[in-house]
Amino acid sequence: MIPRTGPLAGRRLLAIFAHPDDESLACGGTLAWCAAQGVRVSLLCVTRGEMGQRAPGTSDETIPLGTIRRGELHAAAQRLGVEDVIVFDHPDGSLNGVDEPQLRNEMIVAIRHVRPDVVITFGPDGLYWHPDHVTVHERVTEAVQQLGASAPALFYVVFAPGVMRRVVETARANPDAPPDVSLWSLDPDAFGAWAPAATLVLDASAYTPRKIEALRCHRTQVSAASALAWLTPSEAERLLGHEHFVRAATGYMGPTFLDALRPTSAPLP
Ligand SMILES: [Zn+2]
Repeated sequence: MIPRTGPLAGRRLLAIFAHPDDESLACGGTLAWCAAQGVRVSLLCVTRGEMGQRAPGTSDETIPLGTIRRGELHAAAQRLGVEDVIVFDHPDGSLNGVDEPQLRNEMIVAIRHVRPDVVITFGPDGLYWHPDHVTVHERVTEAVQQLGASAPALFYVVFAPGVMRRVVETARANPDAPPDVSLWSLDPDAFGAWAPAATLVLDASAYTPRKIEALRCHRTQVSAASALAWLTPSEAERLLGHEHFVRAATGYMGPTFLDALRPTSAPLP
C-alpha cells in the first residue's frame, strides 16, 4: 500500500461500475480530485466490457476485447490516481441474468474488504437506462442496506439532462471532426433523461484534463468516432467539469468528505 498524503489521507472511496470507461465518464473528475486530496480510491468493475465496441485500428484484433479493455481500465485508473482496481468477470450485457444473491454477496464482500467511507455507483436510471448499470445500482444498494450499522455512505452518480446533447453538438461543430461523431451511437438525450435530481454537484473542472486523459485511455471506446475526442480543453471543462450525485436513502447518513469537497486554487499535483 502506498502511503497517501493530503488533507483527506485516511479516507477511502470505492467506486462500483459495470464496464471499463463508466468510471471515467461518470465521475472521473471526482475520483481524480479525491485521490489528489489523499483519499484512497478503489474501483470495482463488474465486467470486462467484452461486448463493447472495438473501433477500427485501436487494438490488436487477435486479443480478446475483454482483455484489451481490462488493460485500458488499468491505464485510465492510473491517470485518475485510483489505487486499487478489482475486475470481476461477469458477462457484459447480461448482468440482469446473474444470480441476485450471489452478485449482492460479492458486493458485500468487496465493501467489507475495502472498508470505504463512501461508495459511488450508478443511480436508478443507470445513466441512460443501460440494463447492466441498473443491475449494478440495485445490487450495490441492497448490499449497503444489508451492511446495516457498518454501511458506508452511498452516492449515486447521475448526468445532468441535456449535457450529452451539448457534448455531441459541440464536437460536431469542430471543423476537424467527422460529421457523424457520437456517443457510442446512443441517443444523447437518453443521458440523464430519467435521472433523479442531484443532491450534490461537485465542480471538479480542475480535474477535467485528467478525466479526458482517462477517457482516452479507453482507446477502443473513445476513438476519433467519439464526440468526447473532439472537445477543446475549455469545452470539456465547461461541459464535463461538474459531476452530479444523489445521496442514497440508505447507508451511513452523516456528513462525508465528498460533501465537503470545494474547488481550491491549489496547484495540481
Ligand atoms: Zn457501462
